[in-house]
Amino acid sequence: MALNSSGFDGKGVWLKGDWHLHSCHSADSTNNPVGKIIGFAERLGFDYLTITDHDVHVEGDVAGHTWSDPAYRSDRLLLLYGAELTAPRGHVNLYGSEPYDHQRFFDHRNARDWDLTALKRASDVHWSANHPVTSNHYGFSFDLADSIEVWNGPMWPKNAANVRVWDNMLLSGRMIGARGGSDAHHGVADRPERATRWTPEATMNYVGTPTTWVFVRERSGDALLEALAAGRTCVCANPFNPRVELVADTGGGDEMMMGDNARAEGRTVSFEVRLSEGGPEEAEYSVRIIKNRETFATLPIDPATRTARFTDTPAAGERSYYRAEVDGPQAAYADVPGSMALSADKVALSNPLYFNYDPGF
Ligand SMILES: [Zn+2]
Ligand SMILES: [Zn+2]
Repeated sequence: MALNSSGFDGKGVWLKGDWHLHSCHSADSTNNPVGKIIGFAERLGFDYLTITDHDVHVEGDVAGHTWSDPAYRSDRLLLLYGAELTAPRGHVNLYGSEPYDHQRFFDHRNARDWDLTALKRASDVHWSANHPVTSNHYGFSFDLADSIEVWNGPMWPKNAANVRVWDNMLLSGRMIGARGGSDAHHGVADRPERATRWTPEATMNYVGTPTTWVFVRERSGDALLEALAAGRTCVCANPFNPRVELVADTGGGDEMMMGDNARAEGRTVSFEVRLSEGGPEEAEYSVRIIKNRETFATLPIDPATRTARFTDTPAAGERSYYRAEVDGPQAAYADVPGSMALSADKVALSNPLYFNYDPGF
């Protein structure tokens, strides 16, 4: 039934973290040294982080700045190596589980996309399209992208347009894993005289606004990147909101999980939305199911079981995808209290389940 070719056996662990952060090595960051970010994430119980400073501020030499900062280490967090490729036609987060030659990407940031594709293939890096719809919109080909940032920063309403771009790509037959990224630049000022006009942002947008949960086969950077590309993730407005999973029973025995691609042969499929971990007790949530870019159903989530179920018959011989967005009250994020109102009622969103997608596309 499954068309996936990764050999992933469905066993693993959920890790939470943030894929997009700026430290003092970015010239537009304030009060945000590497050690402060990592200390915060450790204290809050995050599992992984990638500090992705702007490469343009160091002429591409992130290896000589962020990556070689003595504070860029942790005994408790998985730290990846990354940077924000900051080009005139858009921003891209590049990730590696080990240091890679970022300078080459910076030097070729204005190259034709077919030349960048060749460079990416030769470099074994993960290419993640950042904030597709902003003034720095993503102006590269999505055929380069292993994942897409559908939720940038705590503010939900502006991200609806990013999600639409993702839906457009999904509808075109591309399976692209979605992630969030706080894109936080500013830390709290340690002394009042250090405050800048940007300091108020530190209590609205910091590590985990939003949080990306990743289902990994093991605790390693390689497993994180593999799962991100495969779409085994969900995004939550903050780390204390419930995690959402969308699963399905196609009758073949194995449960489909997010990112899976199965053959549809005209049979009815039973879907389930599951919330787990965080969230205020007894909170009432609803879930909107999106099928092929359109709203398929809006369902209440049973507060007792924290599930919602529906059935549908994905058409034989045609591509279909289903994904979920959860609305409801925000869990309190005491360390970043200004984030909650900005996220409005968007609590979490899932990656899709795919039917009849071409794995070799
Ligand atoms: Zn950016
Ligand atoms: Zn950024």
